[in-house]
Amino acid sequence: MSSPMKTKIDFLIERVQKQNPSANVKKIRAAYECAAAAHEGQKRRNGEPYIIHPVAVAEIIVEMGLDTDSICAGLLHDCIEDTEFGYREIENKFGTSVAELVDGVTRLGMLRYSKEQEQMEDLRKMFMAMAKDIRVILIKLADRLHNARTFQFLPERKQRDKALETMEIYAPIAHRLGMSRIKWELEDLCLRILDPIGYQEIVDGLQKQSDRYEEFLDHIKERISSKLNEAGIGHSISARVKHIYSIYRKMYAQHKTINEIYDICAVRVIVDSVADCYNVLGYVHDLYKPIPGRFKDYISTPKPNGYQSLHTTVIGRDGIPFEIQIRTEEMHKMAEYGVAAHWKYKQGLDKASNEQAFSWIRQLLEAQQDTEAEDFIKAIKVDLFADEVFVFTPKGDVVNMPAGATPIDLAYAIHSAVGNRMTGAKVNGRIAPIDSILKNGDIVEILTSKETHGPSRDWIKIVRTTEARNKIKQWFKKECREENIVKGHEDLDRELRANLLYNGFYENDEVIQNTLNKFSFANIDEMYAALGYGGITLTKVINKVKDEVGRMRRAAERVEKAEQLITQPQPVKKVRHSQSGVIVEGIDNCLVKFARCCTPIPGDDIVGFITRGYGVSIHRRDCVNVRINEDDKDRSRWVDCWWDEDLLERKCTFSTGLQISTRSRIGILSDIAVLLAQSKVNVRDMNARDLDDGYGVINVVIDVTGVKQLQHIMNRIKTTKGVVGVTRVTSDPHS
Ligand code: MN
Repeated sequence: MSSPMKTKIDFLIERVQKQNPSANVKKIRAAYECAAAAHEGQKRRNGEPYIIHPVAVAEIIVEMGLDTDSICAGLLHDCIEDTEFGYREIENKFGTSVAELVDGVTRLGMLRYSKEQEQMEDLRKMFMAMAKDIRVILIKLADRLHNARTFQFLPERKQRDKALETMEIYAPIAHRLGMSRIKWELEDLCLRILDPIGYQEIVDGLQKQSDRYEEFLDHIKERISSKLNEAGIGHSISARVKHIYSIYRKMYAQHKTINEIYDICAVRVIVDSVADCYNVLGYVHDLYKPIPGRFKDYISTPKPNGYQSLHTTVIGRDGIPFEIQIRTEEMHKMAEYGVAAHWKYKQGLDKASNEQAFSWIRQLLEAQQDTEAEDFIKAIKVDLFADEVFVFTPKGDVVNMPAGATPIDLAYAIHSAVGNRMTGAKVNGRIAPIDSILKNGDIVEILTSKETHGPSRDWIKIVRTTEARNKIKQWFKKECREENIVKGHEDLDRELRANLLYNGFYENDEVIQNTLNKFSFANIDEMYAALGYGGITLTKVINKVKDEVGRMRRAAERVEKAEQLITQPQPVKKVRHSQSGVIVEGIDNCLVKFARCCTPIPGDDIVGFITRGYGVSIHRRDCVNVRINEDDKDRSRWVDCWWDEDLLERKCTFSTGLQISTRSRIGILSDIAVLLAQSKVNVRDMNARDLDDGYGVINVVIDVTGVKQLQHIMNRIKTTKGVVGVTRVTSDPHS
């Protein structure tokens, strides 16, 4: 290897050491040696030894401030593709992390830009890679930046293709990641290729005026600086002519010549605190007249890529406008290096900060979904994600699904065992219907249970992917359903007889139905099958049957004794607590609302319905709207619920409706109102109407702590003169 390169790598290592004393320079040097050996004899288009390129890329990566592994990957980035030194060798020598980075960069470079289609495919891959490891993108940007710096050595047509690709993919990505330095340089390098005449025109125009600009900016700097010194505000100030492509864009957008362009010059003031930013703004506006409507506060409202600054445009000497940017040091680093600032200024790369960076990128992508105008975003929205959707697992892995996929599809995409054990799903932390359509950026958590009786047959109709559909079908087949049914049937019958429940079970449809509902079986065969293969234990089923049969017996006794109060079966004890007062089977802390049709209160036997988007709706089990039919497609959305036992201590109240039938009598309404007031319950609503035949109906909505208090109140109402009967409202009074 020639000696100038040795010098270069020595210089690079020196710089790394200065920047980050804990960097592993031995590893970097070893990576260099490997790359140099691997590329030995290869030449770049301009005749230079090939190793110049990876070293230059590594230099850019060092400038970005990335970690040792990224620098090594930068040195080795062309090895997998172009040399004998492959993934395995890199992994053996430098570890999995470096190998993965190089591999990621290689894959990004694999698809060549030719037409729209490939370009989008490339983009797609980039985003996938980004979600896994942002460093892959940063290394690829460094690679492209060095290639762009040497575009002139390519054949002319290739120059244009590459420049176009860079302009349309790489520069916008740099922009989206807040890396303005790289973005500017890429844009200017590309413009020089794509419109050499326009580019030259601006360069010449700036050249001609350069003395004037320089003198103009020096004067401004001095004036602002001395004013701030006077005020005792520590600061640093710099001034520059804006980069060429931004002037170019303004010229074309506003149909103006370079001499007519506003704010070609920009002054930047960097201060210590946010408060000082606003102070400086005040002083600047004292010194120079601001142009109305040009003040932008990106501190209180950062740009989607995280950029923060105060911008104002003021009129300088001779009426020449210029822009002033005011920001803190921290904001400045963000503005220059964007996402890379994360590595540059927070040394070390622990898992937590990595995740932080990741969540930041995700927010950034989410924010971009409702940003306007930019072609880049349109491209993402219209083309990139038209037929696929990217969702995240709670761990942050990205999963690529076809558009329209549901949580069930995702569960089966993760693993068939996950799908077969799925009981529900949380989307962005909230319980969601298992048939909801997943959206880009959703964080989807699949809820599973070992005790589940496997997928529901309905899922076959719900799922979008053939993979999921096949796996579900396979499950049913594999589970030897018929045999399981026979076995489960026999086992259950034997156990029912042993517990003297056989007749109680089979002679009452309601007992059967409630038992099936309890465990979410669509029909009795499914329960037999589940019992057959052990998806549910006999004990569980028998206990439920016991409850149900007991309840039926009590109900029968109640009929005989005519006016006896309903005694509800004890809810299954759960040692969990909830905000809403209701515990939903298998789901913690979900959004719960109480159905208006039956207004359940503590003590009622309840059941929940997973709505589309409003959490779980709680009904009384005997509500007319609770129709858990086996062939209903919504069957799987009914879930078991219990009241939180903590409620009694908390003395929460719940609204519920009563309907009182009366013989029309003057004063009955006020009698009942007085009675309710004496009972110390809050009355939310009360109205009365007369029926034709001398009878009337009073509807009240009151707040009670539970069934016990309600029964007490109902008994008192019943004994009021003129009251014929009182019942709880079980159907929506508005329907
Ligand atoms: Mn390269």
